[in-house]
Amino acid sequence: MADPTESTVMTMAVTTTPTSDLALTNLAYCSPSDLHCFAVPGTIDLFLANVGEVFVLSISGHESISDGSIALNSIQRRHARVSAGDIVSLTRFIPPENFNLTVLTVDLEFVRKGTRNEQIDATLLSTQLKSKFINQVLTVGQRVTFEYHGTNYIFTVNRAVVEADDVNQTNGIERGVICKDTYLVFKASSASGIKIVNQRESVTSKIFKEREFNLQSLGIGGLGAEFVAIFRRAFTSRILPRDVMNRIGAKHVKGMLLFGPPGTGKTLMARQIGKMLNGKEPKIVNGPEVLSKFIGETEKNIRDLFADAENDQRTLGDAGELHIIIFDEIDAICKSRGSTRDGTGVHDGIVNQLLTKIDGVEALNNVLLIGMTNRKDMLDEALLRPGRLEVHIEISLPDEVGRLQILQIHTKKMKDNSFLSPDVNLQELAARTKNYSGAELEGVVKSATSYAFNRQLSMEDLTKPVDEENIKITMDDFLQALLE
Ligand code: ADP
Repeated sequence: MADPTESTVMTMAVTTTPTSDLALTNLAYCSPSDLHCFAVPGTIDLFLANVGEVFVLSISGHESISDGSIALNSIQRRHARVSAGDIVSLTRFIPPENFNLTVLTVDLEFVRKGTRNEQIDATLLSTQLKSKFINQVLTVGQRVTFEYHGTNYIFTVNRAVVEADDVNQTNGIERGVICKDTYLVFKASSASGIKIVNQRESVTSKIFKEREFNLQSLGIGGLGAEFVAIFRRAFTSRILPRDVMNRIGAKHVKGMLLFGPPGTGKTLMARQIGKMLNGKEPKIVNGPEVLSKFIGETEKNIRDLFADAENDQRTLGDAGELHIIIFDEIDAICKSRGSTRDGTGVHDGIVNQLLTKIDGVEALNNVLLIGMTNRKDMLDEALLRPGRLEVHIEISLPDEVGRLQILQIHTKKMKDNSFLSPDVNLQELAARTKNYSGAELEGVVKSATSYAFNRQLSMEDLTKPVDEENIKITMDDFLQALLE
């Protein structure tokens, strides 16, 4: 019998499961006497290492398994790329401290194709899975079978976030232990026929793809760091339930302020965040419009803005969608109280109304207010306090790398359609455009294009249509545009 220490490596032969081959569990089985070799009676976690595949299983003793064998079900064998009769090595897996999972994202599918359509209640399933897999280790990429309401499913672990970031990786693999507070996010492809209900957060689980996220492909250049900052604060807090938030000392963010010079991409970002949070184009309200369009009714307009969210919360509770209110030029309606010269106190009333509404959403988890301004200094201080527009993200002028990305974004179409002359050096243009905003860089591209058009026009007989094929936007066109 092997010495049951932490470093013990046991060699065992793979065999099939004693019950049904598709035993719906994350358990492997060995003989009761071998189980003692792992030093813990009952269930322990194993580190299973063989031809390049490493994952952790729980193990239980079973009378029908002979000594020196480990029984794996077909999903486990496929995942470990082993067959019955193969030899694998096993060591006891001791989870590091703080190894509890905060969030686990899993992709659901049926065990067999063609199973009937099924609606899954995320809250119920979460409770069931947690009781079944409590204290077990799950690894990203691992496939696990389970039964729910008489139907067999598999889930694949998509993302595992543990409490302490630095232990998120073990041998470069993300894994953690399921505990009662683990928050489960379910995903199912539409092709699977599985419909997940009761999980508003299933939409926002996209955030877990954050690392693969390519901002440039969404038409936003040079704001990677700012975007990640927003992600961390707004997105993560949206998908974690309040008790988990409290436990890890994080707070829900109700409001954010994006501030910085005009034309730097604040609206672009806010729009994108809105889209990612609830999967559709967000509504953007414009401060001056709110003010001028309905003179005398601004306070009512502000109340109306929040009405849908309040209604939803009352009728649907947490199942309702997230309401994102994007306020462009928020300084127009939220100037410091007492700062306006009209002496009418109109502004004061509006600021108070907005503050009341923001404070009123305390109990609500379904509102995110994003304010944007070029004049942070003009805003009423009270609006920027914790619990209100509490996260302030500066969107400043792009640096050279950012300018290059922005130029690439705005010349992409012409490049793809061969309108961009090979002599155009975007790197050089990025170097020459210090202090240009994104909007100004876009202007340079437009202006260069019109130079190219004009040149083509003057070369042609004006009675003939322009030969579009021959239009090339050259470096000279860009340099001329820069002189404007
Ligand atoms: P802001 O809200 O900061 O005043 P916008 O987001 O409205 O600026 O930007 C105006 C336009 O300028 C955008 O529609 C976009 O075409 C361009 N632009 C500004 N910043 C960027 C950026 N970082 N990346 C790509 N395009 C940008």
